[in-house]
Amino acid sequence: MSILSLENVSKTYRGPDGEIAALNDFSLAISTGEFVAVRGPSGCGKSTLLLMAGGLLSPDRGVISIDGEDLYAMGSESRAHYRSMKIGFVFQQFHLVPYLSVLDNILVATVQKPASTKNGVLETAHQLIERFGLSARAHHVPSQLSTGERQRTALARALLNRPSLILADEPTGNLDRENADTVLEDLAAFAGDGGAVLLVTHDPVASERADKQVELDPKKQDAH
Ligand code: ADP
Ligand code: MG
Repeated sequence: MSILSLENVSKTYRGPDGEIAALNDFSLAISTGEFVAVRGPSGCGKSTLLLMAGGLLSPDRGVISIDGEDLYAMGSESRAHYRSMKIGFVFQQFHLVPYLSVLDNILVATVQKPASTKNGVLETAHQLIERFGLSARAHHVPSQLSTGERQRTALARALLNRPSLILADEPTGNLDRENADTVLEDLAAFAGDGGAVLLVTHDPVASERADKQVELDPKKQDAH
């Protein structure tokens, strides 16, 4: 069974200036162990796709399932809980809390969790800090880190709850090539270790690191 499946998904934004068709009849399935990249130019609907796959934006049409569960058939609270159990997010802009240390930024991922499930998280956070080469930085705030260290902190935060799936939106967009390669290797390792990754990017070099590449065709997106 797929960890993530999108079937015939469409989304149109409706605003005061009219309608913008962001995604048109898009389908994709990702199995455990797979690292899949969706590639396409700016504005072709990649972030929209990722938000919908992550349970943060409902599609107009189509079905999105995580681990066989239809994400938008459940209530919003169940969806939020399900998301926090199953999915880790990584973004281009890192989205770290500026006044929290590396350690506390990673632990932020447990805020929504019931206390009973928090056993061992501190130890897991320290393991991730070590694994991502952040030991000397554990008590530094984001402004004291390099961009590569910031993204590795964000990746550690995404992994803290042991998700089944990582959704990554242009995670290398603010990194130099060397740090970008490190983050892509970490994503590949997560997939190789029994996870799954959906990366969306405009960068062909980044998408080539995936096991499977899907082109998001902007012409098709405009076609309706
Ligand atoms: P990408 O991530 O590939 O750059 P997006 O998913 O961000 O593409 O955007 C796809 C299209 O939808 C673009 O034309 C964008 O301007 C539009 N769009 C994105 N978010 C919104 C929104 N909240 N309201 C209206 N239009 C939006
Ligand atoms: Mg985007």
